[in-house]
Amino acid sequence: MQLLDTIAAISTPHGKGGVAMLRISGEGAIRVAAHVFRPASGQALDALPPRHAAYGQILAPDADPAASWVAVDDGIATIYRAPASFTGEDTVEICCHGGILMTQTVLQALLAAGARAAEAGEFTRRAYLNGKMGLSAAQSLGALLEAENRAQLTLAHAGIHETVEKKTRAIYEDLRAVMSQVLVCIDFPEEDLADMGREEMYDRITCCAGALESLAGTYRTGHAVAEGIPTVICGQTNVGKSSLYNRLVGRDAAIVTEIAGTTRDILQERVTVGGEVTLLLQDTAGLRQASDTVEKIGIDRAHAAMDRAELILAVFDGSRDLSEDEKALVSDLSRRAQGGQAVLTVCNKSDLTMATDVALLRTLGEPILLSAATGSGLEDLTERIRALFIDGQIDMRNDAVIATARQHAACLRALSSLRSALSGLQAGVALDLCCVDIEGAMSALSELDGRAVDEDIVNEIFAHFCVGK
Ligand code: GDP
Repeated sequence: MQLLDTIAAISTPHGKGGVAMLRISGEGAIRVAAHVFRPASGQALDALPPRHAAYGQILAPDADPAASWVAVDDGIATIYRAPASFTGEDTVEICCHGGILMTQTVLQALLAAGARAAEAGEFTRRAYLNGKMGLSAAQSLGALLEAENRAQLTLAHAGIHETVEKKTRAIYEDLRAVMSQVLVCIDFPEEDLADMGREEMYDRITCCAGALESLAGTYRTGHAVAEGIPTVICGQTNVGKSSLYNRLVGRDAAIVTEIAGTTRDILQERVTVGGEVTLLLQDTAGLRQASDTVEKIGIDRAHAAMDRAELILAVFDGSRDLSEDEKALVSDLSRRAQGGQAVLTVCNKSDLTMATDVALLRTLGEPILLSAATGSGLEDLTERIRALFIDGQIDMRNDAVIATARQHAACLRALSSLRSALSGLQAGVALDLCCVDIEGAMSALSELDGRAVDEDIVNEIFAHFCVGK
């Protein structure tokens, strides 16, 4: 355990509430808290049994600096002894009444008693530094606080229980076992173990690579749930893009009129569809030959947004036939689909008589008949989006699911090192060269579970936490 200075913060949200909680952690936590909390039992704070709530008085310096400390509230304190606490350090949690001035007064008292104000995420960072949780688990904890839907909660909760770390460590241990066997082959070639070693090594590495492949494959689902899919609604003017955007967002965010070219800049919102998939949804300017400078800029931005999108919802007005520009758009979308972007075509205005020849649209997959005006067909759309990104085989409650780009990149690095070891083995290269690849995979796995990551990455992760967590 690392010995760090004593920090304090209000751990409940800023505002009025029935109860608020302040947390103090560090070597001097109990000594600092003893200035501020006096148990009603008459015992000293450090004589209390750990993990037991004690009722008592909360003290703070008097408004008149010449006077001594005075009781400002009654509350509850719980002490935790290192290493059996969230941070792994001595910790005290003090609950007081949840007023803005009250919590600030108690915090100021703790600072006056010798604590330092905690930085964002500092308690969790200490938990990580003291080996109480892996980096991915810490990241999941951050995701839990930010969760916007049940799927994100489920995934974050599983992450806190280290599903990814456990899976990664199992693969790491397998590779370590392979390595030690290979080192025996290298050290004692006269024992004639090398041939057997090679074959067995190949099988065991194949097995690890298979496990990593499935793990990497979970990122499509994890990314869709946790990070969100950059999604663009595109199409010509007046086909109903903004109406669809408003339907998905659930309110009148974009202006809808019968005047072509209303949407000029890009609008963006995070929305959950089908209860599971998060879309970083963008409404864009209608694609047409514009003469107006502002509209032209909007159309250029729409094209750029389409380039960045992972999902494109292409909207067509089903009550009329496709224009020449729309036929060109279909070819452009088909090129994008081949390049790996997901494309769904929406035939809007299904409440009117349908007049679009859908044969051309079908080259992009079955179009979704929808009325943004009435909402009919919206469920088909969300179901199609869900089916594109959510793997029904994954049990988000219990399976290891890669949920961040950082983990995914490390997983792919480990996989590519193992593939290189396998092709080396097949080509008959020296065993010690294969060992270099296995070591590479092991080091990528250490990054994946957070045992060996750059300080910058750690800083970046904890910077997103709130103060008091
Ligand atoms: P955008 O220019 O593509 O964003 O299209 P808007 O959403 O602004 O809609 C253009 C016009 O089509 C407006 O007058 C809408 O009321 C109308 N509209 C949009 N969706 C539907 C629909 O599903 N059915 C009908 N009948 N009209 C619609």
